[in-house]
Amino acid sequence: MKDANCIFCKIIAGEIPGEPVYQDDAVVAIRDINPQAPVHLLILPRTHLASLAAATPEDMPLVCRLVQVAWLLAAKEKVAQRGYRVVINSGPEGDQVVPHLHVHLLGGRHLSGRIG
Ligand code: AMP
Ligand code: ZN
Repeated sequence: MKDANCIFCKIIAGEIPGEPVYQDDAVVAIRDINPQAPVHLLILPRTHLASLAAATPEDMPLVCRLVQVAWLLAAKEKVAQRGYRVVINSGPEGDQVVPHLHVHLLGGRHLSGRIG
């Protein structure tokens, strides 16, 4: 399931060059083009899903898988001991910009400014 106008679908399909830092049958991770921290990865499901809000109960194992990959990559990027942040922005008031579900993994600096 691919959305022809979706930038993350194009990256996943290899239509826009990009170096995935991780991929498996369901998930692709890339470096954010505008990093907000020394480690800023985006963990994407291969299937197009507009947002967390658009997910169904059946999508929840996939959402868990995205968090699992964030956990894995935090260790691989060596920020697990120091600490990191995992963020999902959903919808307009969640300030989601790209409408393809993704998990941000941020680390490598002190993330000041609490949200939540
Ligand atoms: P969000 O606000 O949660 O939708 O986050 C979208 C993120 O995608 C932002 O942090 C952007 O910097 C990032 N982004 C947009 N286009 C690209 C791209 N072509 N490659 C990598 N990251 C991108
Ligand atoms: Zn997409």
